[in-house]
Amino acid sequence: MEMYSQPHPLNDYLDRVFTCSCGREHYASLKFVSVRKDALDDLPVFAGKLGFQSLYLISDSITYNIAGKRCMEILEKAHIKAHILQLTHTDFDEATVGEVLIGMPDDCDLVVAVGTGAINDMTRYFSYRMGRPFFTVATAAPMDGFASSLAVLNINHLKTSIEAQTPTAIIGDTEILKNAPYRMIAAGLGDLLGKSTCLCDWKLSRIINGEHYCERIVDLVESCVQGVLKSADKARDRDPEVLGNIMEGLVLTGVAMSLYGNSRPASGCEHHMSHYWEMMFEQAGKRPVPHGTQVSVGTVLVLKLVEALRSVQVDFDAARAAARAYDPAVWEKDIRTAYGPAAQGVIDMEAKAQKNETSARLARIDAMEAHWDELTALLDSLPSSQTVIELLKSLDSPYLPAQIDVDAAMLRNTFRYCKEVRARYTILQMVWDLGLLDTLSDQVIDQITALS
Ligand SMILES: [Zn+2]
Ligand SMILES: [Zn+2]
Repeated sequence: MEMYSQPHPLNDYLDRVFTCSCGREHYASLKFVSVRKDALDDLPVFAGKLGFQSLYLISDSITYNIAGKRCMEILEKAHIKAHILQLTHTDFDEATVGEVLIGMPDDCDLVVAVGTGAINDMTRYFSYRMGRPFFTVATAAPMDGFASSLAVLNINHLKTSIEAQTPTAIIGDTEILKNAPYRMIAAGLGDLLGKSTCLCDWKLSRIINGEHYCERIVDLVESCVQGVLKSADKARDRDPEVLGNIMEGLVLTGVAMSLYGNSRPASGCEHHMSHYWEMMFEQAGKRPVPHGTQVSVGTVLVLKLVEALRSVQVDFDAARAAARAYDPAVWEKDIRTAYGPAAQGVIDMEAKAQKNETSARLARIDAMEAHWDELTALLDSLPSSQTVIELLKSLDSPYLPAQIDVDAAMLRNTFRYCKEVRARYTILQMVWDLGLLDTLSDQVIDQITALS
């Protein structure tokens, strides 16, 4: 069928093939999403519709009490056979895989994750390896990874991203979500805040690089995020409807990634900052704050950088001179310092992507000069950093790097080198192309330091 020209409710996008004016086909394999009061009642309904007869629920002692016990009661009432595991090995490593395997009933035909984050990742991976589909019963909504097909597990004591599968159904009971820890609620909202800068990245790249772009998917994510942000201040009072909207927004952005086939609709330079911090914290053996909290701080930083860019007169000839002066050997040396043991991966990626190479950069500078009014109109349509800071403040959520353990040195490296974590065109690459990344980010760092 034809992709809708106006955004539709989330369920209208699931499990159907769309042809689209962007020239691509879109498909998201997720079949059911239910985010509402008493959504747990939909667990036997969805399982019944798909003909599943023996469910294997995976929980831990906390999520068992929050949702697992209730799921079992509901399934029993509906006469659906179910077994629930309460994990005792909670490092989400090889031992956890073993425990989940040992506890699996022989006739299990559906695995159900009861929880968020690590329980979901484990279930996503385990069900995939066992050739069974899986459902998610969420107990919180701190990020947009629900519809992801990758799982992060601890393998040989290393956090490892590994191929898995997307869920078949996602259930979020707002009566449960409203009791989630407050920092998780703020993190979920933070992940949504980052969509403004990430969609802007895509729009800029469409103009500068002629990158493939889907207007329908961008409209879908944009309208959903705007809807959520309108009432975001009520998240503070744990308003179940607003928390339901946040979770639906996070599921929807996940669905948008499935529809598009990669993370372009949901992850831009604000996410590159978060990825860089995750790497640095991991190297230092530190536990980072939740992903969405990092993304919200990243969003503030990107918006500040955009404001700095808009305050200067761009000199395209100076940008061309900077492009010609680029020295890959110096770059490589800087990357080794900024990335430590992770540097080789970044260097190998650049060898393939060649995003810093001079002739391509000169072509981008030409495109920017030719379309500067259009580009600045996009930048000017972003929310102001102050608006986002006020919102985060009202939620008692971190908005400054120092509040999430990112010190001045790490912040400097973040601005200059986090764009190297992915070969994706973003605002950071654009400012770098213009030869302004070092000076403008130093300005922003001075401002930020004055705020803390
Ligand atoms: Zn995210
Ligand atoms: Zn499209």
